[in-house]
Amino acid sequence: MEIFVPDIYAKSIFDINYDKLIDRGIKCILFDLDNTIAPKGVKSPDKKTIELFEQIEEKGLKLIIVSNSGKKRVTPFKEHLNIDAAHTALKPLKNKYKKIMKIYRFKDNEIAAVGDQLLTDVLGANRMGLTSILVNQISVNDFVWTKMNRVIENKIFKYLEKHSLFKLGEYYD
Ligand SMILES: [Mg+2]
Repeated sequence: MEIFVPDIYAKSIFDINYDKLIDRGIKCILFDLDNTIAPKGVKSPDKKTIELFEQIEEKGLKLIIVSNSGKKRVTPFKEHLNIDAAHTALKPLKNKYKKIMKIYRFKDNEIAAVGDQLLTDVLGANRMGLTSILVNQISVNDFVWTKMNRVIENKIFKYLEKHSLFKLGEYYD
């Protein structure tokens, strides 16, 4: 069950210590979209998010959106944030991560992956040996398939808490 434990846990993308990531040798950050960057139903990033991404990029980090959603959902975010994006990623499967590592030539220890779900974002990152970062979901409003994942996820959270491996609300980096 340790495969579901994130390396870092932050309240939101605004609370991640990006300088500390750089100190650890991270050069690239993969961002989940839904409920990590924006809630369901919001079709483009807000000003605060655009500013955050600009600030992180100025630090020299490569930012890429890696989303399980389709092209139509991902494209406005790719354009407004002016960053690269991979849609239909099928996280936690390894293919898209491998493809990104090959194209951008980053090693596993140079990539951090941020997301709001254990079953896709954290599991996928941990399987690849990336630095996994869990953030709280922005909204409790999920897409149908995510709702099913959440049922399983809640059971995993309970197991992890019972075994003192992870506790919701206790942030660490
Ligand atoms: Mg998500």
